[in-house]
Amino acid sequence: MSLPSPSLSEQNPVFDGHNDVLYQLWKAGDKKGGMFIDPNKDSALAITCHSAQIGCLKGGLFAIFVPARDSLENTEGLSEKPAFDHTMEMLDIAHYLHKNHSDAFRICQNNKDIKKASSDGAIAAVLHIEGAEAIGPSLDGLYALAQRGVRSIGPLWSRPNIFGQGVPFSFPGSPDQGSGLTQHGKALVKACDEAGIMLDVSHLNEAGFWDIARLSHQPITATHSNAHALCPSPRNLTDKQLAAIAESGGMVGVCFATAYLRADGARNDQTSLDPILRQIDYLLRFLGEDHVGLGSDFDGAVLPSELKTAAGLPALQKALQTHGFGLQLTQKLCWDNWLIRLSKCSGF
Ligand code: ZN
Repeated sequence: MSLPSPSLSEQNPVFDGHNDVLYQLWKAGDKKGGMFIDPNKDSALAITCHSAQIGCLKGGLFAIFVPARDSLENTEGLSEKPAFDHTMEMLDIAHYLHKNHSDAFRICQNNKDIKKASSDGAIAAVLHIEGAEAIGPSLDGLYALAQRGVRSIGPLWSRPNIFGQGVPFSFPGSPDQGSGLTQHGKALVKACDEAGIMLDVSHLNEAGFWDIARLSHQPITATHSNAHALCPSPRNLTDKQLAAIAESGGMVGVCFATAYLRADGARNDQTSLDPILRQIDYLLRFLGEDHVGLGSDFDGAVLPSELKTAAGLPALQKALQTHGFGLQLTQKLCWDNWLIRLSKCSGF
């Protein structure tokens, strides 16, 4: 099948704030990442090297997510040992791809790596942890993960752990549910600041958000979240939170998951790209044009059918420009802003 080739303005490079490709490969037992690499393999992934190439997706935060044993939304905390082991298995997949397919996938530790990978035609992967169950109270796990290339951590997913509480998926709902970070959570924030690891507040409850806002020296960053005023999911950020992010010089990656886009919170792929544009309009008003990016949730959620895979990104770029954002702002939203945010991590 030949795909329409997008015009030049729709081929700006994209750096995306969140995907779950590594989790999907691990879940499928695909230790060598064949579903990602091999264009002939029937792949159910939203991001493959083929779809990334069509979509001009040149880099992103690649999340490692450990599910609970019985169901994704199980609110029972996971214990450290199995979470650590599964995290290492997902890191093994990333390192296998990096080592054996460096023309297509590269683990990046800094902006120099990202720019080099992207100019060589490889997707630039910055490794991220979504829910820090793999790290125990001693925080030794943090350093083990950093040694294997992890540069970004969201301490909580939508469940409690030793660091604090995440938000549930109930709809509609406020993010203000549950208590703030525990002593371990506060220690983790401090350790991430010291190690130059980016902290992510997506999935964190509001009390935990304010703890990070108070304790961390970093610009507050939500890799894949939207504005609560337009979609009242607990996963989204209130105006007050957005104002705090703006004040810190932080960043929000607009999430394409329809559950966090639509006013009715439905998981329904029959959703146009309009709610994404409305979210970006709203976020720009709070944050300004240097502090909004993309945070797709490819391979982790129900997305609008036009963005079923990364090959749909040119359609989004076209929609951004038709909406009136223009080429320069589109480039900032799609690439520049994430790289500038990452450069604020020490050593990045
Ligand atoms: Zn997520």
